[in-house]
Amino acid sequence: MSTYIVLLGPPGVGKGTQAKTLAEQTGLVHVSSGDLFRENFKNQTELGKLAKSYMDKGELVPDDVTVAMIKDRLARPDCKAGAILDGFPRTPAQAEALHKMLAGFKGDVDLVPFINADPKVLIERICGRWTCKANGHIYHEKFNPPKVAGKCDIDGSELYQREDDKVETVTNRIKVYIEQTSPLIDYYRAQNKLVEIDGTQPIEKVTGALLSVTRKVAR
Ligand code: ADP
Ligand code: ADP
Repeated sequence: MSTYIVLLGPPGVGKGTQAKTLAEQTGLVHVSSGDLFRENFKNQTELGKLAKSYMDKGELVPDDVTVAMIKDRLARPDCKAGAILDGFPRTPAQAEALHKMLAGFKGDVDLVPFINADPKVLIERICGRWTCKANGHIYHEKFNPPKVAGKCDIDGSELYQREDDKVETVTNRIKVYIEQTSPLIDYYRAQNKLVEIDGTQPIEKVTGALLSVTRKVAR
């Protein structure tokens, strides 16, 4: 049986940061839709160029291309035991598509940790975010600084600030989240899969809360 965990929450709440630790601890693969789009853009694929035009405005990439990209990723052999999904699904249509695609892999969404914080916290986090060029490792200039300024602790690559992490784009991303993604809170609550986690706590505390709920579904 495969295990699928969906990390739900607004932009900047800490999904990527936590997903990386959870993946190490559970052995499940971290699948981030945003990272996949950025990787496609880096490789100048048609999908990457299309996605970038939406990402720059803080809008969602259309469901059909997003769903196809995730389906392709989850079908790869390294996801045989399951995955930790970060940033997907982001609309009710994506959630329905995920349910159908997982049935094809003889699985379903097992758990949905919902990490939450207020917009003021999210803006402060996103505006101080630094991301590593090589592998997307995540830092914060105040809350999680790298040991050497501008360099990734893990692979030594250069850190950059994402173009969509500007304050104007961030405000739109939060609005898009409220309008299009927040209906998923009730969707997964109705399926008894939702577990609420206080995302305003320090990184290690959020990790502890997540590990205690994920242990029930993953090793
Ligand atoms: P998301 O994937 O939800 O957009 P990230 O994991 O990229 O969020 O985190 C956004 C920013 O906030 C990063 O700079 C990260 O270092 C920082 N961060 C993440 N979790 C916390 C936390 N619990 N407390 C303080 N800063 C955090
Ligand atoms: P954050 O967690 O900080 O919002 P992401 O890396 O998850 O950042 O997403 C960055 C951008 O990529 C989004 O603003 C959106 O344009 C696009 N994107 C990521 N995931 C999806 C998705 N599931 N559906 C549509 N667009 C997406």
